[in-house]
Amino acid sequence: MKKALLSLAGFDPTGGAGVLLDCKVFELLGFQGLGIITANTVQNTQKVKKFFSTSSQLIIEQFNTLQEDIKIEGVKVGMIGDKQSYSGIKHILNSSKNIHRIIDPILKAGSGKWLINKSEINNLYEELIPLAEIITPNIFEASLLIDMEINSIDDMKKAAERIYNKWKVKSIIKGGHLKSDKAIDLAFDGKNFLILEEKKIKNKIHGTGCFFSSALLGYLCLNNSFFEACNSAKELTSRAIKKSIKIGKGQKIIIFKSLSNYS
Ligand code: PLP
Repeated sequence: MKKALLSLAGFDPTGGAGVLLDCKVFELLGFQGLGIITANTVQNTQKVKKFFSTSSQLIIEQFNTLQEDIKIEGVKVGMIGDKQSYSGIKHILNSSKNIHRIIDPILKAGSGKWLINKSEINNLYEELIPLAEIITPNIFEASLLIDMEINSIDDMKKAAERIYNKWKVKSIIKGGHLKSDKAIDLAFDGKNFLILEEKKIKNKIHGTGCFFSSALLGYLCLNNSFFEACNSAKELTSRAIKKSIKIGKGQKIIIFKSLSNYS
């Protein structure tokens, strides 16, 4: 039977991020993509105008109904929205302790809008993050979550250690916004660091963070170790970014055909 992975994330009508994108990545890696929407957004490729989060009751009913029928092999959490959806997300993470669990702590869209109620960031993530196995913040998100400035690879290492000491989760901190001609990411499993480097791509492409965290979940569920999965996810994301196109007047989005299309 086809293995199923769950994206618990926002709905972006362009298909360039959130549940729609995550499910396409899961399918690319051979999984059935399941989706539960945490928040519905109003956006195009130029900007996010607003969002409406889903009630926790609906999220829980959707999850329980899926689980009565389908074996879920891994889950990733993207955009949370606000406290309406919080207990639903917590319920799913609490019920998923025996499978791979990734939180991609999305705070702000590439086009600028906050995708979470700013005043609720710490409240919402404080109890969710320890329920994850891995978190995948960029340096902006990591610096807000643990309240430190991150300007160098040494800072990224300190941040990953603080994240591990505070919440006992592995992390990969994405350093695309560091001042460097390379896109440098840092993975930490609680003992060892792994530095991943790629040539930096100048333009911001919509949905690359969602793509990376979904690919990471896929590779983990294909029985790769954490560091192997980080390497493969980074490599696939870089290849996919090269296939991004404009479908509107704003940010480019990633297009999908097949894995061989990315080679
Ligand atoms: N998830 C959803 C549902 C979104 O709407 C967005 C941004 O609009 C993101 C994730 C993050 O996307 P970006 O790569 O543009 O930061």
